[in-house]
Amino acid sequence: MRDNNFYSYLHKQIPVLIFLSLLPGLGYILLGWLYDSHLPALVWYSLVVIVSIYGYQLYSRFNLQQMTEVELKIWHKKTFIFFYIFFLLWTVIFVTYINYNEYNLHYIAIFTQIGASVVASIILYPDQRLYKSAIYTLMLPLIVYFIVYDDWIGYVLAAFSATLTWVLLYSAAGTYTLLNKISFQANHDFLTGMFNRQYFINSLQMKMNTLTAEKKYSYLLLIDLDHFKTINDSLGHDIGDGLLQVVANRLQHALQTDSILARLGGDEFIITGPYFRNKHECKKEALTTSERILVALKKSYEINRHHVYISCSIGVSVISDSSNSAVDFIKEADIAMYEVKEKGRDGVFFFDEEMSARVEHNLRVEQLLHHALINKEIKLYFQPQLNLSQQVVGSEALARWYHHELGAISPAEFIPIAEQTGLIIELGNYILEQAIITLAEWEAKGIILQQFSINISMRQLMHTDFVACVHTLCQQHLTPELSNKLIFELTESVIAENPPKVSAIMDELKALGIKFSMDDFGTGYSSLSYIKKLPIEEIKIDRSFIEDIGQDIDAQQMIVTIIEMARIFDLRIVAEGVETATQLEFLRQHNCHLIQGYYHSHPLSYDDFIHYYYKSLTE
Ligand code: C2E
Ligand code: MG
Ligand code: MG
Repeated sequence: MRDNNFYSYLHKQIPVLIFLSLLPGLGYILLGWLYDSHLPALVWYSLVVIVSIYGYQLYSRFNLQQMTEVELKIWHKKTFIFFYIFFLLWTVIFVTYINYNEYNLHYIAIFTQIGASVVASIILYPDQRLYKSAIYTLMLPLIVYFIVYDDWIGYVLAAFSATLTWVLLYSAAGTYTLLNKISFQANHDFLTGMFNRQYFINSLQMKMNTLTAEKKYSYLLLIDLDHFKTINDSLGHDIGDGLLQVVANRLQHALQTDSILARLGGDEFIITGPYFRNKHECKKEALTTSERILVALKKSYEINRHHVYISCSIGVSVISDSSNSAVDFIKEADIAMYEVKEKGRDGVFFFDEEMSARVEHNLRVEQLLHHALINKEIKLYFQPQLNLSQQVVGSEALARWYHHELGAISPAEFIPIAEQTGLIIELGNYILEQAIITLAEWEAKGIILQQFSINISMRQLMHTDFVACVHTLCQQHLTPELSNKLIFELTESVIAENPPKVSAIMDELKALGIKFSMDDFGTGYSSLSYIKKLPIEEIKIDRSFIEDIGQDIDAQQMIVTIIEMARIFDLRIVAEGVETATQLEFLRQHNCHLIQGYYHSHPLSYDDFIHYYYKSLTE
């Protein structure tokens, strides 16, 4: 298995071998000198020194962080030659001294030859071709020598050497197999047999070196299965594992040659494509491959007699040079993949700079949001709701955040971020408390409203402590009559998330006196069935319909239908986003109950709302 560890290992053996040759080599020179023919030893030693210098160059040129795949292959070839020549030189010294009897030089030659073979089998075992050729080169001359020795003892020694050769080859082969097994495990994913994250990152780094050197392009595809968790949870982990194996197989078949496929973990797979000369061609191919994968994974699966269907989301990042690290490119593909998830899954997106800026901005907002809560930067504004006789009868609490660097940040921006990070629980409780306190204080000041609306987001509503928290706050600050004025605004998407659970929570809250309004009505799905089943008292027609009054007959017809339907179900109807007299007139004609919008007033601060309220009384 030629991975980075393999090359690093060979790299580390170069100085070991140089050291092992240079030092005992001096002994040979000394012996050669004593023998008064030091010439062969000196010639041999000079060759060792030259090859050592070559070896040292190979040693110092090795740099996994920067070498391209081709450079690494060439380096390995040269290193192979270096090691081989070194052992060949030992054989030369053996052949030179084996016939000299003085100082028992032939014994020394035999022993050093055997020693060199042992060293070769010990240090070169990860490279099968290398250790085999080194051992044969060292041991065969020895065996031949014993055979031609022409004595029975020579045959015995030849047999002995042959056995030793076999033992060395056998033990090196054993270690080699074990190493292969270990490195296979270290580089592969157990379940699918694919490469794993670590191997992928290393090979991607190497690929990026090639891209930089050759000015080429490639792509990264990050594939995440959609709703895999649901399959795991509902059908069990065996089916989940089986599904992952089939997915891995299908991915393998959807790929071009020269691609690397790995499992990053869980239900995430990653692919790098082949090399491309131009970016356009690279993008085109990335898209074609992604589409092929989307189709391949969507075909039905049969696992343990279960029919399973799954789609996937693919994020693409085009990689061109090593200005980014491998991990950064994976992060880019990840960002693009999340974008697909957000936009409804089952698709492909390419990473771009705008996406990255958005993610960065969101990250910053996320960080600052923590401080915003502590520093009390989040304030509540209140938008008046008026009846058709122009009286202020209600108010919707809307969160406002002003940050000294980022400026005014819209709740449409920070509420979803708070939802994703879980901060919505803390933030939501804070807003809820502020709103409830405001309602109590206004009532004490003689501001008598019929209703007081607070927006509640999905995660907040689903939180285990939510009902208890509402209960405590109502008890602390409100009388039962005032609690009855509270309206929680929910959007259709909140309800659609888990209708039975939402319904149960709504019933518990209803018992506390809370009422419910369906916010942004008309923008979600299957509204009618919810309205019938859930304890909803009010509907807020979405701003997008109101906007079109006077311009789009269909939108107007839609509004009339919604109002008609609300009447049948006995629901109060609020129009939000009313900006013009025309819109107001239309809604008045069709008996819409409450009006909210810039036409009357923008959302107002605590004090401004009080002024607005008193002013409206005197008008
Ligand atoms: P929403 O609940 O549908 O609130 C109405 C949005 O329309 C508010 O935007 C309001 O300022 C804006 N609006 C009101 N009248 C007009 C008008 O005449 N023209 C136009 N163009 N816009 C008008 P805002 O305050 O930016 O809030 C946006 C969304 O953020 C809200 O939509 C709500 O979903 C969410 N949100 C705001 N405050 C909170 C909160 O305290 N908690 C939660 N969970 N969500 C909140
Ligand atoms: Mg609302
Ligand atoms: Mg709304």
